[in-house]
Amino acid sequence: MRIVSPQAAGTQPTQAQRSTTVPARGTAGSILTAAERGVEWTARYGCFAECVLDHAGADGEPGWHQAAAANLTAPSGCKPAGTVLTSRVTQVSQDADAFGVETKAWVDFEYRDILELTLPQAHEFAAGLRNFLTEFETSLALLEKLAVADRPGDPEVKAQHMADVEARIQAVNAAELYVFLQDHGIALEAADGPNADALTEPVLVDLEDGPALLAPPGATPGALLLYVHDAVVRRAVQA
Ligand SMILES: [Zn+2]
Repeated sequence: MRIVSPQAAGTQPTQAQRSTTVPARGTAGSILTAAERGVEWTARYGCFAECVLDHAGADGEPGWHQAAAANLTAPSGCKPAGTVLTSRVTQVSQDADAFGVETKAWVDFEYRDILELTLPQAHEFAAGLRNFLTEFETSLALLEKLAVADRPGDPEVKAQHMADVEARIQAVNAAELYVFLQDHGIALEAADGPNADALTEPVLVDLEDGPALLAPPGATPGALLLYVHDAVVRRAVQA
């Protein structure tokens, strides 16, 4: 893989960056755009030209793309210091055929405290607000340019996509169930015969050969895993 920037090669995401939903970025224009990173990058991640997310590094592939933020920070000397307000033009385009493409300005009021400003700080804040407004209005031109290509998803593709996701989840659950039962020496018995429908919940029973999980008809691997895990924990507590 081609290393395209020192940022991509050298920095690890901080805890704060990992834990926020919206990636924390520096001031507008301080990092490379997708256009600057090149066509290979843009094609690989499906960015619009102005996207500044580091998809190979700290930002990963969150399912959306973002332009640099219009930013307003607290005046110098304020506690806590930090960002007051941001706006990022954001295009959500993951699994676009199923869910569509949607472009919006994501405005985040990040400062959760009261700003107590002296007169000099208030003047600094006023200048910051004017600067923010300029950056915000500039970003609206990008929003207008991108939003014309927004489109809805296809309901049929979406239904198939959701079915595929569900199938993958159940396949993972089935594998985990198999391992769990193996680890605990529990046999799996599917209820059948004329009275099978009478069993509506899974049951962990002790048979002559050892413990067995009786599965009602149609029970999903996920439901069985949840039940048998809880039942084993309960037994361990009672023992
Ligand atoms: Zn991107």
